[in-house]
Formats: sequence, C-alpha cells, structure tokens
Amino acid sequence: MRTAIDPVCEQEVLTWWSTVRGLYLDMAGNRFFFCSRDCQRKFENHPAAYTMAEDYWRASDDGMPQPEEIETEWS
Ligand SMILES: [Zn+2]
Repeated sequence: MRTAIDPVCEQEVLTWWSTVRGLYLDMAGNRFFFCSRDCQRKFENHPAAYTMAEDYWRASDDGMPQPEEIETEWS
C-alpha cells in the first residue's frame, strides 16, 4: 500500500486515505499528503518551514526538485 510522510507531523499516511478526504496539496511539482486538516492548514501557511526542515526530499522518488529550486520558485 502506498504511503507518504505528512511533512508537518512526520506521521506516515496512506495516500488514498488523504486523497479521498482532500488532505493533500500540490506544490512545486510535488504532492504532499496530510493526516488532518490541521496539518494541511499549517503547511499551507508555512510550506517552506516543513519542506526545508527534514528528510522529505531525500525520501522522495528520483527527479524531485531540490529544496534550493523550490525556494526560488516560491519567492
Ligand atoms: Zn499530520
């Protein structure tokens, strides 16, 4: 079963579960999944705080943009 890491609370979430509830966000070519509306809202408010802070990118598939590229896109 396909899972993803909630970038806010770093909890593992099932992607289909988050998808049916709308608990995901497409940003900079990536889709982020969340465990709750709360985490989704936190991420929306401060996306950089979460994507920069931890190992999310290294754990992702090949071809994902690097944090530096993301930062310039967002500024
Ligand atoms: Zn969460």
